[in-house]
Amino acid sequence: MALKDYQEDVEMCCRCSTCKFVPMQKIKGLKYATVCPSIAKFNFHAYSGGGRINLINALLKKKVQPNDKLKDIVYNCQLCGACGVSCNYAMDFKVLEPITELRMKCVEDGRTVPALDRTVAAMKQNGTMVAGDKRGAWADGLNLKNASKEKTDVLFFTGCQISFNKGLNKLAKAAVNILQKAKVDFGILGDAEICCGGRAYQMGYRDDFIAQAKKNLEMFKKAGVKTIVTACADCYQAFKVLYEEYNLRGGIEVLHITEYIDRLLKSGKLKLTKSVPLTVTYHDPCRLGRQGEEYVHWQGQRKPGGFFMFDPPRVYRRGTGGVYEPPRDVLKAIPGVRIKEMNRIKEYAWCCGAGGGVAESNPEFSAWTAAERIDEAVSTGAEAIVSACPWCEKNFTQAVKDTGGILKVYDIVELVEKAL
Ligand code: SF4
Ligand code: SF4
Repeated sequence: MALKDYQEDVEMCCRCSTCKFVPMQKIKGLKYATVCPSIAKFNFHAYSGGGRINLINALLKKKVQPNDKLKDIVYNCQLCGACGVSCNYAMDFKVLEPITELRMKCVEDGRTVPALDRTVAAMKQNGTMVAGDKRGAWADGLNLKNASKEKTDVLFFTGCQISFNKGLNKLAKAAVNILQKAKVDFGILGDAEICCGGRAYQMGYRDDFIAQAKKNLEMFKKAGVKTIVTACADCYQAFKVLYEEYNLRGGIEVLHITEYIDRLLKSGKLKLTKSVPLTVTYHDPCRLGRQGEEYVHWQGQRKPGGFFMFDPPRVYRRGTGGVYEPPRDVLKAIPGVRIKEMNRIKEYAWCCGAGGGVAESNPEFSAWTAAERIDEAVSTGAEAIVSACPWCEKNFTQAVKDTGGILKVYDIVELVEKAL
């Protein structure tokens, strides 16, 4: 798609500002009613979902010209997708897609941010988004099957953040421990693993994402992979949704580790026996939740007339088909764990702040967004915030540290491991 292909979508915006909030019908309170970190932080309409698509409309009609202010608006957005979900509660047109496409256009036109250029250059050169020397070092001594040498039905894909962030290696080790306990025959790619490319896509570098996806698909096919299991929400969304959109998934099943654990628990292959006495609140990662629902290919025609009527009807991704229950079911299966929900959950969850390249391009905005979520988590009275993505855990851990809080931060796999 090109930006001009979204002309009709962006013209549909009626400037109602619903995209800034949890829809009126779903709102639970005034305090945690906003969904868009960008408008909440920068407080100017152009920084909202609607503002951005109004800007695209103006750009397409040549009413405004690209400048440095445009760059600031384009990159100070986590591409979390909350705007599109709230808008699409009542409206049928695309919001996140044209916003993402504007970023692609900025990259094509050379209107980039140095921090993101560096990150993507590192991915191209070293196959990673996160600096480090030896990708598979976390698995040294674990004697795991190497999928780059042996055929593997089930591949545990580690991801850059978990592989290279020493403080987050524990998530891979916990996942491996759980899979071994359930006697799952699985492999890892170890040092041969490379970045999924999903975050490069979010940053606007489509060609680099596609090149990365092709390399990965070739590796998966060679290894005979039938199912990919990952503990990273960004990798999950890349493999399941983006690879599918670009016809590069190769028919491989993609599961988040919480979905896989949920299956193991429900089939009786895994039992959690030890008590983990803890009151937790669960944070839905954007790319496991609202952006984690299946991509549906559509081919058809728009019916004549001023409205969005398609033959066959076009399927909108409204965020409701994301992975919401498996993580909650896994938490409920851990003896001693009690869940207290935040106001903004599931498709209306507030972002952790790390997405869309914001962690790299504007760390201060990223940290502010995480601190807002920590404040909401604390308001529930929970002792810990639990997520299912290393990028969330990294951002939340830092936010708690920066604000001098005492809230504990975990990934679900850490709690499951404690209960084995
Ligand atoms: S994008 Fe949707 S929700 Fe936002 S102002 Fe436009 S019509 Fe309203
Ligand atoms: S993608 Fe997220 S941060 Fe960007 S405009 Fe939409 S709600 Fe705001």
